[in-house]
Amino acid sequence: MKYSILIIFLSLFLGNVASAQHNVKIYDLLNELKFATQDTSKGDIYLKLAQEYSSFDVTKSISKAELSLMIANSRKDVRRTFDALAVLVETHSTIPNDLPKAVQYFSKIQNLDSTKFLLEQKAHYFGLEGRVYYVLLDYEKSKNAYLKQLSIYEKLKNEQNIDKIANTNFALGELFFAQADGERAISYYQKAIQLFQQSNNINKRIEALNAIGKAYLKIGNNSASLQYCNDALFLSESLSDKKLVAHINLNTAQALYANAQYDDANDKLTIAQSIAEDAGNQHLLTNIKLLQGKILQTKNLPLKAAALFHEALDISWLANDKVLTKDIYEALYEYYEHIDDVRNAHFYLKGLTNMRDSLKAEENNKQLTISKIRFETEEKDKENRRLRAVQLENQVTIQRQKFSNYILIVLLLAGLGAGYFLYQNLKQRKAYNNILKGEVQKRTEELEQSNDELTQTNRRLEQSNDELERFAYIASHDLKSPLRNVISFLNLIERKIKKQDDDDLKSYIRFATENAKQMNVLIQDVLEFSRIDTDSQSNRLERIDINDSLMLAIQNLHEAMKEQNAEIIIGKMPTITASSVHVLQLFQNFISNGLKYNRSDKPEILITHTDTPEQHIFAIKDNGIGIDPKYHDQIFEMFKRLHTREEFKGTGIGLAICKKIVHNMDGRVWVDSEVGTGTTFYFSIPKANHISIA
Ligand code: ADP
Repeated sequence: MKYSILIIFLSLFLGNVASAQHNVKIYDLLNELKFATQDTSKGDIYLKLAQEYSSFDVTKSISKAELSLMIANSRKDVRRTFDALAVLVETHSTIPNDLPKAVQYFSKIQNLDSTKFLLEQKAHYFGLEGRVYYVLLDYEKSKNAYLKQLSIYEKLKNEQNIDKIANTNFALGELFFAQADGERAISYYQKAIQLFQQSNNINKRIEALNAIGKAYLKIGNNSASLQYCNDALFLSESLSDKKLVAHINLNTAQALYANAQYDDANDKLTIAQSIAEDAGNQHLLTNIKLLQGKILQTKNLPLKAAALFHEALDISWLANDKVLTKDIYEALYEYYEHIDDVRNAHFYLKGLTNMRDSLKAEENNKQLTISKIRFETEEKDKENRRLRAVQLENQVTIQRQKFSNYILIVLLLAGLGAGYFLYQNLKQRKAYNNILKGEVQKRTEELEQSNDELTQTNRRLEQSNDELERFAYIASHDLKSPLRNVISFLNLIERKIKKQDDDDLKSYIRFATENAKQMNVLIQDVLEFSRIDTDSQSNRLERIDINDSLMLAIQNLHEAMKEQNAEIIIGKMPTITASSVHVLQLFQNFISNGLKYNRSDKPEILITHTDTPEQHIFAIKDNGIGIDPKYHDQIFEMFKRLHTREEFKGTGIGLAICKKIVHNMDGRVWVDSEVGTGTTFYFSIPKANHISIA
């Protein structure tokens, strides 16, 4: 105990009461561990240690939770196994690269016998589910899980649960904030603030006030944002957690800046700065300098602002924060562009682009991990289907068995006179029948459960797909405007250096402009891809004469056809019901590929139609360069190209668009080709559902 007091004073001296409290608890727990003799109590102490460490030393938290898990596992203690796994899921889900581990531990929880869980643990389970789906970006699932957790807490109606209910509301706030739904985020944050007040959890209340401040800033209500930041600031003054105080001052400064109260913002930044400097918190300092620089810009002191941006840049490298470094590059680039210093503007623009690329690469990696997890879920799906087949087979066997039993009983009834022996036999058969009945019921239940899992997994996959598509749409949509800026800036530079003799510079600029334009085409194509599902206008079904669609496609490709001396031959075409925009897109993509990947003196494209009672089949045949059969599947994938841009221009999206359109109509698309013998693309459209003959 003497030592505990010493630790408290030591930590107070360092100005951190929160961690002092942790240290005391950890010290006591380690002492307890020394005297623990039974495995179970050792496991419980490891678990408590893992929980204590979780807020400031994740590595230790993980290792203690693993020890606790080992003990609980060896004792086949489901509840303790759950508790240890729960800490592991929570801790790993806070580390960006540990997402697969978090999911792995979560699926271990899913495999536990949940009937043994306490109600409290069931609620905890849904909280973990919410958390895992949140990090997997499956927001709908995450929301449902959190709502289930809330409903259990409602049932428990326990005083101690107020804090937990507050936490769930806070998590829901974060969830809606991540989906850019500021209004709903705010309403959950508000509930959380109220409940944290009831449970007297000042730190979390401040965190929630801070979060609501950010949410108001996001929806443009700067004055409300300022009000909440001020509340957080007021509460934080009673705390000795200096880091939190500095953060809140920074947030308040951001709200003040948005409110154009620059002097007040500067005051808050000065407070935050002195704390950040004392604690050597590089991340915080970078943020502070960046905002100070922006304030100086509003006061028309660009030189001083630039000096601060440079300072911020030096520190941000130490803090290794890419998002911040990107913001600073942007500020410096805008500054140098403003003062017409082309060399430096170019330098920071390059830096800005590199940072964006690197952030994008990180984002892609994350998406890749999520796709991998999705793939594994699909594997599980296959296993489920296999099990279902085995179960069906078992059912048939049981049915047969039942039938033969029935015959036996009939025979037994006919031979009533056979006496006691036969009577006994009949009794035995009956008992056996009951066992079989039980078996049938059990198998049916198992089958139903596996069916449920199957539908659930499918729904998860569908959602995940939808989200990926939404992501592509938003990303490409948001990229359009900065790219336009880059192109105009490059044009500006090009005009400026026209009179100079620097040929190298001119060719660099030309190269940059070409690349930016290429990117513009790429973004346009990605947008087109994402719009197939979302644009209601182009999804409208109507009667179309395919001849009309083909005429329109040929008209659009007239330039290229004339240039290449190309000829298009069209067979007899039907009238169908479909989206005219999509049908035009389909034919235009196939025809333009037939012209593009063609080195013949006279490119020829033949378009024909056949049908079966169920479907229409269209073929587009060219006399172009052909495609090696080993690539026949891959070319329909997004971004898959078989040639460099120098050989043939393109983005690798055209066929992906065709595939999506055809699949949306429940059809199929395929290709028949060899290198050097031309290519025929086929696609089929069912006559039922969407499409019908005139
Ligand atoms: P892009 O034409 O923009 O590269 P697509 O998705 O339309 O993208 O095509 C993907 C790839 O398939 C092309 O890069 C090309 O290598 C190949 N390809 C498509 N159509 C043809 C064709 N008619 N003849 C030969 N190769 C083709």
